[in-house]
Amino acid sequence: MEYHAPKGTVDMLSDTAYAWEHLQRVAAEIFAAYGYQPIYTPIFEHTEVFERGIGEATDVVGKEMYTFADKGGRSITLRPEGTASVVRSALEHSLTANGQSAKLYYAGPMFRYERPQKGRMRQFWQIGAEALGMQDPSIDAEVIVMLMAFFEAVGIPRQNMRLLLNSMGEDSCRPKYREKVAGYLRTHADALCGGCVRRADTNPLRAFDCKTPSCKEVMAAAPLLRDELCDECATHYRAVKGHLDGQGILYEEDATLVRGLDYYTRTVFEVQADAGLGSQNAIGGGGRYDGLMEVFGGQPTPGLGFALGFERTLLAMAAAGVEVPGTPAVRVYVARVDASTDPEAFRLVSDLRRARIPAEMDHKGRSLKAQFRQADRLGANLVVVVGPDESAAGEATVRDMSAKTEERVALPRLVAAIAERLRQG
Ligand code: AMP
Repeated sequence: MEYHAPKGTVDMLSDTAYAWEHLQRVAAEIFAAYGYQPIYTPIFEHTEVFERGIGEATDVVGKEMYTFADKGGRSITLRPEGTASVVRSALEHSLTANGQSAKLYYAGPMFRYERPQKGRMRQFWQIGAEALGMQDPSIDAEVIVMLMAFFEAVGIPRQNMRLLLNSMGEDSCRPKYREKVAGYLRTHADALCGGCVRRADTNPLRAFDCKTPSCKEVMAAAPLLRDELCDECATHYRAVKGHLDGQGILYEEDATLVRGLDYYTRTVFEVQADAGLGSQNAIGGGGRYDGLMEVFGGQPTPGLGFALGFERTLLAMAAAGVEVPGTPAVRVYVARVDASTDPEAFRLVSDLRRARIPAEMDHKGRSLKAQFRQADRLGANLVVVVGPDESAAGEATVRDMSAKTEERVALPRLVAAIAERLRQG
């Protein structure tokens, strides 16, 4: 049998793994400036967390979850997204009790049983943030500003991105609107795909996301929530836009943006990027979910957040020609000459590493010549040689691999001298 990673998953080899760590570092740095703190929730949850949190009528819950019974017979699901888990956790640990608020971010793998294609995986990696306990439109703007700041910080030019914005209303206006769209779908059932006919009864707003041409045509003339928002939602939406305008954040209003998950209320947004991604061009998105805490049995607590996809962000970065920091190069190669100076060589390589200078030595019994070839292959800037001669004089020979020059340096000064050489480039 040949072993290979399951369909829709990839091994992140070192360059991709470094890119992932780089994005996490950038996120941590930027999110900290906005007051967000890290949270790690389990990768699996009781299935009900997602069924109730995301909504049974959604594609994610209906078709895409990795669900299994554990040995105790409990139904367990690999998390398909981060928000439901974070909200479950915030409630469990009373993070928003007594009117407190919490700003949290996470990074890690998510799992959805989807048809894999470029930018669509079954195990994919997200970075997300959630702001819990705050209702003011300024926090909606904050979350969006922070997301855009992240994308710009990783090098995606602003002109390569489109920020789409919409309001989904809430209990006072959306249910009425849903019924209106359901009625509209029923009257146009002849022209709709089977999925959209069924959506009339389950999740009518999802028909806006259907890619079938005839459905798209029907939905182009469907009633829009924008025209049916209650006063409070309309005022909130206007204020969010005002804050974004005030920050110079460009957005496009898209009255058909409904996003897949049931829990959204009011503000929703999506960031799209041209990256040869075709229909998978959403690199991130999110929205407000003021009803979610109550779904888990908590007090009514407003909240909102976003998630961005690592794979698609990386594609958008590549499309913009961004060089992602890859595997760090070996800077110094310490050659082994013979058994008499071996302990010195090993000590030197350790000293360099303690000084955080990437250093390497031979562990395969290579000849001195082969060690120089290996140093070259690894791209080492300097090779250090301590042979019996050098050792007797308390020195080492330092060879600059590109200038092809050599100098002798006293051993006690070696690490400092090398650090200085490398700093000078
Ligand atoms: P969502 O949780 O569906 O709102 O997705 C948020 C972001 O995660 C999207 O904008 C994508 O960048 C990314 N994403 C969602 N699903 C996948 C997937 N199956 N494969 C790769 N990235 C995904």
